[in-house]
Amino acid sequence: MQYFSLQNKQHKVNFETAVVQGLAPDRGLYFPEQIPTLDKEFLTHLHDYTEHEIGLKVIRPFVGDEIPEEALKKIVTDTLHFPFPVQKVTGHTFALELFHGPTLAFKDVGARFMAGCLGYFRRNSTTPVTVLVATSGDTGGAVASGFYNVPGVEVVILYPSGKVSVLQEKQLTTLGNNIYALEIEGTFDDCQQLVKTAFLDRELQAARPLTSANSINVARWLPQMFYYFLAYKQMKAAHHKLVFSVPSGNFGNICAGMMAAAMGLPISHFVAATNINDTVPRFMASGKYEPGKAAPTLSNAMDVADPSNFVRILELFSNSLPALSEKLTAYSFNDKDTARTMEQVWKENHYMLDPHGAVGFMGLQRYLEHAPEMTGVFLETAHPVKFEDTAPKSIREEIYTPARVMSLYGKEKEATRLTTDYTAFKNWLMRQ
Ligand SMILES: *Cc1c(COP(=O)(O)O)cnc(C)c1O
Repeated sequence: MQYFSLQNKQHKVNFETAVVQGLAPDRGLYFPEQIPTLDKEFLTHLHDYTEHEIGLKVIRPFVGDEIPEEALKKIVTDTLHFPFPVQKVTGHTFALELFHGPTLAFKDVGARFMAGCLGYFRRNSTTPVTVLVATSGDTGGAVASGFYNVPGVEVVILYPSGKVSVLQEKQLTTLGNNIYALEIEGTFDDCQQLVKTAFLDRELQAARPLTSANSINVARWLPQMFYYFLAYKQMKAAHHKLVFSVPSGNFGNICAGMMAAAMGLPISHFVAATNINDTVPRFMASGKYEPGKAAPTLSNAMDVADPSNFVRILELFSNSLPALSEKLTAYSFNDKDTARTMEQVWKENHYMLDPHGAVGFMGLQRYLEHAPEMTGVFLETAHPVKFEDTAPKSIREEIYTPARVMSLYGKEKEATRLTTDYTAFKNWLMRQ
């Protein structure tokens, strides 16, 4: 499979280059040259296949022969080594739980798959590559866990001091080995600025090859298709008209679902549910793409004003808003509704939502009001314990803490504290 840059369709690279580069040199996102279609036989007999067989079948055309069968099988197996259960919440609504992985959020899937691919492509190299990543919380933990002990790869994570939750900080700072945490005395934007400057620094790159594990990387984006297939399998979906509601920030997750549908998975409709950072719902209503400034919310992993992956969704629909509107509806919700929904769903359905899942749930409810014949699945993208600190007081006590999280609290934090000064950051990287 070849991938072209969305800035210039003549610029094409293979899968390996797209993974190693992340972004095309012209700053465009990579997009597959063709959308593979899955055979009917496979789709109608999905329930006869194991999760690993499904993963392999879905991702194989995107990888081509660049990773041999056995190696790709191992990557898929390592990626899908935790469950993706579908739970009934109300009569017609189901939660697809994506938080059973090591860092309790769906980003584990993309991070693990990318780590496997990068590890494979670097298998014979003698100089280690450094994955540099700035995080506002969830990404760093998933990348750290995914790349932990991958030979030939070191990970440096920059996070804003005092601005990630206690649990998130533990996930970033307690692994050790090839994972280094830098606690930056500044904001997430400062962290991102340091990373961007490093990528433009030729002297640094010559001394220490860098790569990014950003969510726009095709190896983080595409494996997110897996769990739409796994949900479909569990729903015995041939009997339903299915709608998926996806709490969205950078729009990578929902874009993977729409790619799965483009490959033939029978999903009737998608709902993009956002918090008050509503650039896409406004675009769907007016046709004008006007990103403002991101505002902080309870569902902070979705505090994105200019979602990078939306251009990929537009590409899937040949940049036609009418065509896109047939398949996608977008709604936005404020924090008050989010908190109220978390309380209400706990009280009425005894299901504990996290703030992101709550936004997805609300999106689904609103859509189903007009489409009562449909069955809905919303993506529960993180475990509620990750956002315990900001959960409504009335339900906070009820949030369950998984055992593997308990053990994290007892571990010693290891991080290097740095200011936002680029030279100090560069010196630290060069000294390593
Ligand atoms: C990253 C994240 C999202 C947003 O996903 P996108 O692919 O960026 O749209 C939603 N929920 C949680 C918990 C996340 O960590």
